[in-house]
Amino acid sequence: MKPHLDYDIAIIGGGIIGLSIAISLQQSGKTVIIIDQDYEQINASRKNAGAFAFADIVPLATPHILKSAPKWFFDPEGPLYIHPAYLLSIFPWMVRFWRASWNDVFARSLEAQAYLMALSREALERQVKDLNAEFLLYRKGQLRLYQQKRNFDKSSILWDACSRHNIQHILFNSAEQINEIQPGLNPKYRYAGFTPDWINVSDPKIWVQYIKGIFIDRGGKWLEKSAEMIAPNENDVLIKVQESMVNATFCVIAAGAWSKKLASSMGDKIPLDTERGYNITLQNTGFDLKTHLTFAEHGFVVSMINQAIRVGGAVEFAGLTRPPNFNRADTLLKKAENFIPGLLNGNGYNKWMGFRPSIPDSLPVIDYSSLSKRVLYAFGHGHLGLTQAAGTAELVRDLIIGQKPAINMSAFSAKRF
Ligand SMILES: Cc1cc2nc3c(=O)[nH]c(=O)nc-3n(C[C@H](O)[C@H](O)[C@H](O)COP(=O)(O)OP(=O)(O)OC[C@H]3O[C@@H](n4cnc5c(N)ncnc54)[C@H](O)[C@@H]3O)c2cc1C
Repeated sequence: MKPHLDYDIAIIGGGIIGLSIAISLQQSGKTVIIIDQDYEQINASRKNAGAFAFADIVPLATPHILKSAPKWFFDPEGPLYIHPAYLLSIFPWMVRFWRASWNDVFARSLEAQAYLMALSREALERQVKDLNAEFLLYRKGQLRLYQQKRNFDKSSILWDACSRHNIQHILFNSAEQINEIQPGLNPKYRYAGFTPDWINVSDPKIWVQYIKGIFIDRGGKWLEKSAEMIAPNENDVLIKVQESMVNATFCVIAAGAWSKKLASSMGDKIPLDTERGYNITLQNTGFDLKTHLTFAEHGFVVSMINQAIRVGGAVEFAGLTRPPNFNRADTLLKKAENFIPGLLNGNGYNKWMGFRPSIPDSLPVIDYSSLSKRVLYAFGHGHLGLTQAAGTAELVRDLIIGQKPAINMSAFSAKRF
């Protein structure tokens, strides 16, 4: 079989991570091909909640998580559910998640997350300037809401970390203060943290389409095929894509939740699984959403997507092939209606499920493969792939062009497990 085409870089996966890496490498003068098997259908990047969640620096595996999580595990409508048939498969991941919640690992992961966030925030501004994309953003902050004082008190772990890392936040303890930022919420909400530097895209689907368009305009090649095998040599990498071969000097695996098998073929056993998430997008609700809302105690968020409102969240461990359970999206909506009276006045909605690519310590893998420095990894961004895409892209670019990365990379190593 003859090589199909010659490129400096072949990227497997055209979600927000692959696309952002492609743009960054094009800026460094590299020729890039993106190979994506099924971009329109399955990727998580097109229909997520659209938040650049720069304040979300606390890993999910907090020291107290295992006190509250087990009661949710088997409630199909709770914020965190494990499908009984998936219990054995997810068990090793859960053990690592538990280990990640120990104070030592948790503290290390939090620091690393904060540095990646700070880089990503600056890198996003560079990306927005380069792509002339300001018109696709909302800069309206985020209100993180709590009904119960004891839950708000527990959230000090986040606010203290924000203070340490210079992330602006203002804490509220009355419904009146909250009402000044977001009128119309159930007055039971009396506690909140407001993070003014939070940014949203007006629509994640348009965001990725826009970046894809620029990638192609700048000479990038998009190949809609599945990458089946990667064979690194001394001077290049061959990638088998169905009936043909692609030849490139470097290959980046950025295949989101589907990256595990490809990494395993490069000699790395990465504990990557998927946290499936749901959302429901409502048209014409009449609710005047002023900022991104996070209902921290209930595991869902409310964001503006163009003129519509998207309610999204939930974590479901059920693997990559089981059909969605859209009752979970309905449950999110019911909860949201309790807290945002009038939300259901809309006239049309659609539901979606996406596959978050998740690693137990909430940090992505950004590294060379064990087998060859010609194959690199950029996956496992979990709940934060949109947020960390521009920062990840700069780090991968630096690893490829042999420049010192802007932050310490050890926490993102493929060998940390
Ligand atoms: C409900 C929900 C809400 C979310 N909200 C937010 C948010 O507000 N902010 C945020 O930062 N993040 C959010 N996320 C997480 C975010 O969507 C993901 O972290 C991010 O999209 C992952 O991007 P990716 O490029 O790694 O993967 P994906 O977008 O999943 O892309 C992977 C691509 O790889 C391709 N692929 C896989 N295997 C192969 C192969 N063998 N050959 C060729 N192509 C292949 C797939 O077709 C796919 O297009 C949310 C996720 C969900 C589910």
